[in-house]
Amino acid sequence: MKTTRRKFIADSAKATLLTVVGGPLLIESAVACSPTLANAVQPNPFTFVQVPLPYAYAALEPYIDAQTMEIHYTKHHTAYIKNVNDALVAEKSTAISEEAFFSSMATRSAKARNNGGGAWNHNFFWQVMRPGTEENQPTGKVLEALVASFGSIEKFKEQFTQAAMTRFGSGWAWLVSDKGKLMIGSTPNQDNPLMDFAGEGVLKGKPLLALDVWEHAYYLKYQNKRNEYVANWWKVVNWDEVAKRLN
Ligand code: MN
Repeated sequence: MKTTRRKFIADSAKATLLTVVGGPLLIESAVACSPTLANAVQPNPFTFVQVPLPYAYAALEPYIDAQTMEIHYTKHHTAYIKNVNDALVAEKSTAISEEAFFSSMATRSAKARNNGGGAWNHNFFWQVMRPGTEENQPTGKVLEALVASFGSIEKFKEQFTQAAMTRFGSGWAWLVSDKGKLMIGSTPNQDNPLMDFAGEGVLKGKPLLALDVWEHAYYLKYQNKRNEYVANWWKVVNWDEVAKRLN
């Protein structure tokens, strides 16, 4: 009987570990609910899974067009997911969570870095958008936090837009929380603020909001007019999702 009890404790501990490390985007969450399945997958490393798009391709019209959304989701994002998972296998990665993966970037290949960022960033990006309205604005605690940190919503948007516009070439603009302090910045390529790169000027923190400023995100509709894309993107920001991540 002792053996059975020990096994139960071990299984429970593993299940707890998976639950603790699993953020909202960790794809093994269903598995983590089951000690039996958790035991079966442990200690295998996780793989990235593309989250289902929370709305139809046309849902963000007229601000973001359906064709861009479809290509972005089914071609670009799908490729990042496949390629990072290939890289995880090639590297014999032992990371069991996204947190573990992004906190060991310095040891990983360019393929893992670029595609891992691409996989995660887009899973995040889809969720912080929703069908738009002209009046779309933050409310409640998000509004209070942005006003407290940046002076006003207008000033916040101005600073965020500046980050998006001055990111030369491809990259992302971010609003992050670093130990409760809100900060705006940008990252090149598919880097993100979860990556453990040291160094001055590198944005680090918990992402609250992200904007993809790669040309593939806007070129079909806006061509070279990134400023118009950014201005219209504010109409589709899902402030409820920002609120969930703010604490
Ligand atoms: Mn993209």
